[in-house]
Amino acid sequence: MKPNWKKSITRLHGLERHIALLAERPAGAGPVISCHLDLTRGEAACRRFITDQASSLRNDLHGRARRDFEHGLMLLLERLAQRLGPRARGLSLFIAVRSDPVVLTSLTFAVPVHNRMALAATPDIFPLLCLKDRLESHMLVLVQPTWLQIAEVNLGDPSVKAWATHSTSTAPLRSDLRLVDPAPSIDTGKGLDRHIKFVERVLRAGGRSYLFLAGDPRLCATLYGLLSPTLRARLVQTLPLPADCSLKQAAEVSMAAFQEFESGVSQATAARLLRGVRTQGSAVAGAAATLSAMREQRADTLVISHDYPSSNGWVCNSCGTSDVRAQAPAHCPSCGGDNVASLDPRIELIRLAGQQRLPVELVDGDELRYLGGVGCLLRDTPETRAAPLPRQATTLDLVA
Ligand SMILES: [Zn+2]
Repeated sequence: MKPNWKKSITRLHGLERHIALLAERPAGAGPVISCHLDLTRGEAACRRFITDQASSLRNDLHGRARRDFEHGLMLLLERLAQRLGPRARGLSLFIAVRSDPVVLTSLTFAVPVHNRMALAATPDIFPLLCLKDRLESHMLVLVQPTWLQIAEVNLGDPSVKAWATHSTSTAPLRSDLRLVDPAPSIDTGKGLDRHIKFVERVLRAGGRSYLFLAGDPRLCATLYGLLSPTLRARLVQTLPLPADCSLKQAAEVSMAAFQEFESGVSQATAARLLRGVRTQGSAVAGAAATLSAMREQRADTLVISHDYPSSNGWVCNSCGTSDVRAQAPAHCPSCGGDNVASLDPRIELIRLAGQQRLPVELVDGDELRYLGGVGCLLRDTPETRAAPLPRQATTLDLVA
């Protein structure tokens, strides 16, 4: 029997579940190798990357820690040798390092993941949060003179939800993966109104996902006119595409447009954060304030610079006092206890966001950097209740 590659590609829902599970792994449960790979570079290049990273990681390891690391590394390379399927373009592997190492999580993606490898007390889930922020899931309606297809593009993986010919066919839309022969004639868009109820039902089944219309510009406009106001409000963009454009090509274009849109959303959230910090008290910035808001479950959205650096800090596990910029003291200056642990604010912020399933917005820009590179919107303030809306039907000229 042929393996089901379709199933092996990670979808948004699965990614969210794995992020939460990995984030909940206690720091005391033993070190973890986190390895993120861009498979489009080829297996040999991935192995070279792992070997290079391993040689610098093992420099600091001695005795049993070194032996356990080598066992974990062997398991990692074994996993890489397994067939991942033709659609796998990115891989994230998390391995619990010990004398009998185990794979904690193995995630295959339809898009490449930047190469990155770490050995740390907790899993490095930052690249997973980046993927989620960048790609999420959107609905794509590709409409051409004789047919239309509706697809969901989930973490960069397009899957057809329905298709139809809309000129001569009177048959209702069907959920089927096969394509029909294009029906002859038409370009008036009249066939579209016959299917609009079904189109709306399929789009509603996509939850609250954003929407792209693509293909013939005139038919996109007709379809837009037929859609209900709630679905129109979910439209991010109309993408004019040539008649011979395949669904796969259309999905590449909508993905690029979605990433641009997402980066706009992230910038808008960063602007709300800055306003909230300066005037409204609906947001906090800086590692210490953000950490305490998140620990107290007062955070609504974490906003963090792409290049937010690792650093040394500490936290007292008895009274909660922390300093995000100093080496751990022998005794807590607040309570005098010795239950003091080192902490990297970057890892801790990401871990808490994963545990609490908070949205994470990744941004560039100096303004946030001046405020410490990180902040969060707080729950239940007027600012956080006003969710951003997509841009209305604008067009992006992608046809030469
Ligand atoms: Zn203390």
